[in-house]
Amino acid sequence: MWMRCPAVTCRRPFQVNQFKGYVPADYESGKITCPHCATVLTGDQNSTFLTHALLPSDESRFIEAESSGTAQE
Ligand SMILES: [Zn+2]
Repeated sequence: MWMRCPAVTCRRPFQVNQFKGYVPADYESGKITCPHCATVLTGDQNSTFLTHALLPSDESRFIEAESSGTAQE
């Protein structure tokens, strides 16, 4: 899924991949970290979330979709 960073200084979209019931040693469960500003959000405690910055083309697609009301959750 894609989400937008809630930090007022950032607000950039990024990709989130959720892995239910699987927590690699290097990751804390339930933490979603913005790849742009490292703000940490809380998610499902039984999942691991891996985040990636969007490609510039995807980022503009997200902003277009959002302004037309069809953004993904
Ligand atoms: Zn951010």
